[in-house]
Amino acid sequence: MVDTEDSAATNAEVAETVEAAEAAADVVDAVPVIDGHNDTLLRCTDDERRAEKSAAVSEEVPGVDEAFLERDGGHLDLPRALESPLAVGIFASFVPSSADPNTEPVDVHDGELPAAIDPEVAERVVLDQLSALNRWARASDAFRIVEDIDDLDDCLDGESLGAIAHVEGAAAIAPDLSNLDLLYAAGLRSVGITWSRPNQFGNGVPFVHDASPDTGDGLTDAGHDLVRACDERGILVDCAHLNEAGFWDVVEASANPPVVSHTGAHAVCPATRNLTDEQLAAIGDENGLVGLTFGTGFLHPEGDSDDDMPVEIMVDHIDHFVEQAGIDCVGLGSDFDGAGIPEAIGDVRGLNVLLDALRDRGYSEEEIEAIAYRNWRRVFANVWS
Ligand code: ZN
Repeated sequence: MVDTEDSAATNAEVAETVEAAEAAADVVDAVPVIDGHNDTLLRCTDDERRAEKSAAVSEEVPGVDEAFLERDGGHLDLPRALESPLAVGIFASFVPSSADPNTEPVDVHDGELPAAIDPEVAERVVLDQLSALNRWARASDAFRIVEDIDDLDDCLDGESLGAIAHVEGAAAIAPDLSNLDLLYAAGLRSVGITWSRPNQFGNGVPFVHDASPDTGDGLTDAGHDLVRACDERGILVDCAHLNEAGFWDVVEASANPPVVSHTGAHAVCPATRNLTDEQLAAIGDENGLVGLTFGTGFLHPEGDSDDDMPVEIMVDHIDHFVEQAGIDCVGLGSDFDGAGIPEAIGDVRGLNVLLDALRDRGYSEEEIEAIAYRNWRRVFANVWS
């Protein structure tokens, strides 16, 4: 039976209802995103950063858990992620140099390389951050730690936001790998060998514009052992921040295809952090993955960190990745909460701005799905098989 009030609805009200239903359908049909890198754990656990990022939203500095579970400053928290296409993010555990009182702070953006962190200090910080991740998953049904391909597929189906636990720099892993199983048990499924500093396993690149990523020696013997141990356990090895010699060492040592989670094309922006055409071709040849950073300093051809950078420059990098590595080897790796990103993207809710820019450039829906989540899914299905 038709309710009389409904039947009396004006055309405008009907139009509004249809619009709302269409908007809801759009959310359901939206392309989900697997994002290859964020530093949200650092934003939420580091006192100084928490204070700085929260100042934009309120006077009050939230606790570690509120900084993620409630709306906060920065680029990514649970409420905003649930309003966005993000289905799964790689959540990096990162140890700031300030955590180790024996290292002098340096300006990495000036091309200086910070000193190695004491492995014991690093382990303490990483366990603290992995604990936060586990606590958040217990606190909210809308958030979970992704440890296998079934978990990942549930998140792609929209059941909850998923986090793949990652270390950005393996300083916390003991040189004899004696704590790797403990970290695996805490959820760790992805290891970046280095950040932009040396450690017991290899050497990271400094942040220099208009210079080669070939900045020193590759993996140490322990680094080779770490790659093999990660392969055996089903832990992804990530070459982001590694120098070029280290990248080639991983290509040779790993049974899995090479992955660089957040980077740019050196041919478009010649920064040490970005990949040469030779590296991109190797990723394509081996069916690996290159994830696009949203960090403006590694995207802008002149190395500028302007946040008014047009989104089209991000698409220029994607075009180049696709040209060199192929459409099946390109993904996203935003660096939310870890880098200055274009204002046009703003925060995690702006992922669609980039997908729309790809549509405007002529990418098909199938190609956009490959970049947004299918290629990352294939990488993890392989590592976890
Ligand atoms: Zn990074």
